[in-house]
Amino acid sequence: MALLSTTDFPHQIVKTEGFAHKRIDLHSHTNCSDGGLSPQTLIDRAANFQIDVLAITDHDTVAGLDIAQKHIEDKNIPLKLIDGIEISTAWQGFEIHIVGLNIDKNNSQLKSLIEQQQEAREQRAISMGEKLTKCGFPTIYTDAKAMAGDGSITRAHFAKVLYQQGHVSTMQQAFDKYIGKKGSKGQRAYVKPNWCNIEEAIVAIHQAGGSAVMAHPIRYDLSAKWLRRLIVHFSEVSGDGLEVVLPQMSPDQRQKMLAYCQEYNLYASMGSDFHYPNKWSDLGRNLTMPVGAKPIWAQWQ
Ligand code: AMP
Ligand code: MN
Ligand code: MN
Ligand code: MN
Repeated sequence: MALLSTTDFPHQIVKTEGFAHKRIDLHSHTNCSDGGLSPQTLIDRAANFQIDVLAITDHDTVAGLDIAQKHIEDKNIPLKLIDGIEISTAWQGFEIHIVGLNIDKNNSQLKSLIEQQQEAREQRAISMGEKLTKCGFPTIYTDAKAMAGDGSITRAHFAKVLYQQGHVSTMQQAFDKYIGKKGSKGQRAYVKPNWCNIEEAIVAIHQAGGSAVMAHPIRYDLSAKWLRRLIVHFSEVSGDGLEVVLPQMSPDQRQKMLAYCQEYNLYASMGSDFHYPNKWSDLGRNLTMPVGAKPIWAQWQ
């Protein structure tokens, strides 16, 4: 069946029967943030993988969405693009990612939050650059900035530059030795970011008509007690759903996330968090909504 065209509907209305028995991936990145592929190449890859519904959710930017949609229309690709974003937030000293799905990317409140987040990214990048200079790597900020180009600058760019210049032997090591946060203070070049809070992200997403989903709840290194606290807070400030299905998640973890959804009356989302092709995960791979979940797209009608 041909997928619905957004031109027939206001952005917030996506007929959800279009989602039945479809291949759906609601979390992916392009080189407008720290993904390896351009929006066009990402769309082509999704089409090759016969994905029917794809959300692009770059870090604190919506810049890839128009480019991707134009490519879909120019090439007549049978793919429904869901406009998305992944917003970095601060909560109790942790960095929590909130995905906005089916948003109006032109909403003014969302746009002003994006500007604020971009400013926080820029300031953190400059400070990280200064700390890395003290570590003996004076060009890293300029190089990371050049790599990010017009896009959202992330620690992944710093990690890649450190790796490419041979200062670390893997990107992970860049986080472990320099820019990651383990413990209360973080590594030598860690800089505490000035992100918005969870509620501000959710309010902006709702103002833009979207659904607010907590990204990858299993990846925050939180004890069970703290994870529950986080989910309680998220639900108290009107968060809509949790990412229940991610690649490389154990059946036990998935079951736990599903149980949280049921306990706190949250919707369930699923996505690969694709950044670039690798051995372990890919667009749309291993993503199936478990029985008993309320899929997030049920909100879009
Ligand atoms: P930022 O949002 O600028 O803090 O950048 C974080 C991004 O770096 C994440 O979205 C991941 O794509 C990537 N990343 C890779 N390894 C790590 C790690 N060990 N810790 C945090 N981020 C990582
Ligand atoms: Mn990323
Ligand atoms: Mn994330
Ligand atoms: Mn992501």
